[in-house]
Amino acid sequence: MNRLLFVLMMHAVSLLFIFSGQTAFSQQAKCTRPNIIFIMADDHALQAISAYGSKLVRTPNIDRIAREGAVMKNGFVTNSVCSPSRAVILTGKYSHLNGLRDNGTYFNGAQQTLPKIMRANGYQTAIVGKWHLWSEPSGFDYWNILPAQGHYYNPPFIKMGKDTVYKGYVTDVITDLSLQWIDANRSKPFFLMLHHKAPHRNFMPPLKYLHKFDDAAFPLPASFYDDYKDRPALQRQQITVAHDLDIRYDSKIPCDTCAVTAINNWAPAEYQREIERLTPQERRQWDSVYQAEYAQFKKIHDPASLVKFQFRRYMEDYLRCILSVDDNVGRVLDYLDKTGLAENTIVIYTSDQGFYMGEHGLYDKRFMYEESFRTPMVIRYPAKIKAGQQVNEFTLNLDIAPTLLEYAGVAVPADMQGESMNRLLQKGQVRNWRKEIYYHYYELSFGLTRHYGIYTGRYKLMHFYDPIHAWELYDLKKDKLEIHNLYNDPKYAKVIQDLKTRLRALQQRYKDDVGEW
Ligand code: CA
Repeated sequence: MNRLLFVLMMHAVSLLFIFSGQTAFSQQAKCTRPNIIFIMADDHALQAISAYGSKLVRTPNIDRIAREGAVMKNGFVTNSVCSPSRAVILTGKYSHLNGLRDNGTYFNGAQQTLPKIMRANGYQTAIVGKWHLWSEPSGFDYWNILPAQGHYYNPPFIKMGKDTVYKGYVTDVITDLSLQWIDANRSKPFFLMLHHKAPHRNFMPPLKYLHKFDDAAFPLPASFYDDYKDRPALQRQQITVAHDLDIRYDSKIPCDTCAVTAINNWAPAEYQREIERLTPQERRQWDSVYQAEYAQFKKIHDPASLVKFQFRRYMEDYLRCILSVDDNVGRVLDYLDKTGLAENTIVIYTSDQGFYMGEHGLYDKRFMYEESFRTPMVIRYPAKIKAGQQVNEFTLNLDIAPTLLEYAGVAVPADMQGESMNRLLQKGQVRNWRKEIYYHYYELSFGLTRHYGIYTGRYKLMHFYDPIHAWELYDLKKDKLEIHNLYNDPKYAKVIQDLKTRLRALQQRYKDDVGEW
């Protein structure tokens, strides 16, 4: 063999080697693309997760995700209410760009969404549970969703367009259906959105937990008796524990003679429809517990005691729902262990927003105050994310779509407005990460006022603009409870001026044209 031929042959061999190596690599990359299970509760407050320091309840399974992965200590939403948050997660865009500003709007399913992109890139996609976007789900190979808000007991579903009803408690049923779908589809990478209804109002617990917290005492939060001084938007809202939780619908007290208010006149009949979903056997257990609560209620004769009673009833039922959500998170984790899928499966647990557990005297969400502006998020991905991380940077529900696309090896579309959290999670790169957050809430129901604002960690500036006009400023270093509106304090004039400039810049950056202030 002459020398030239030998060199050419060696070259060909090495080329072949490189080439086959590349093929093997890309096949390997394809094979190891992670599965994704995105678990989202509805209205799960940070204050009710022990990974976030809850003193109210223990959530060992959600905590396990945090311990074996990362906990986002400063996670927020861009618009704190159910459907809008879901649309932000699906699109990676603020409400004014994805078109869904409030709960009454249909989601435009023709637009680009996370599941559509995942599906186009070879993922099997599914959503099970709460959808709440009115239009039919698109981008999913399989969808089995609750109609509207859904029901807690023996819940109806819409399975790929067909009405169907399942026996059982909704949180268990959603998990059952999810695990069945994974089991049938785990031969290829999958992306599952597992969306719980719980612990959404009216907080109906599973029968097995109806006696949990019987002996617990729930102290009122420090801001429970907030007087709303200098804050007209808080003065006009109708989401207080004291006046707006219905004695029947929310507290489950079978009191036929209790007053019906203009705000809650729909509630008694709605509650009746909910409990009629229970089987006679289930109903006997249910009634025995709430008849006993009724006996307690009858002993109350002063308004202050009634408020405390309502708060206790709210806390008990809400937290009982949480126990069941956490159990079902555990079922998913156990399933992944058992099937050997855990290492290469991303599991996220989050909520569509935070929730008030009596802070400012409120239940519910919507406002940009801390408890509903923040949202829990824990994420585990043993193959790529180091265990035991606490991420302190400001993360948003807006970041979920870009993050999951990056982990799936798919390019993030330029018009998505969030950022992939991967560099925080995998490399701890915090340079040039966002230092401020832009928020915009639109829905007018429950006496709310539209508002937008900026949060910098130290300060929060909010502009309420419809139907009333008011500004609020909080110095969170001095006032964690957000009780003292400093907007008219001359000492903060320069701070306000600076925050307004930054707020304007954020509105331009995110293309939110709000016109004149
Ligand atoms: Ca919600």
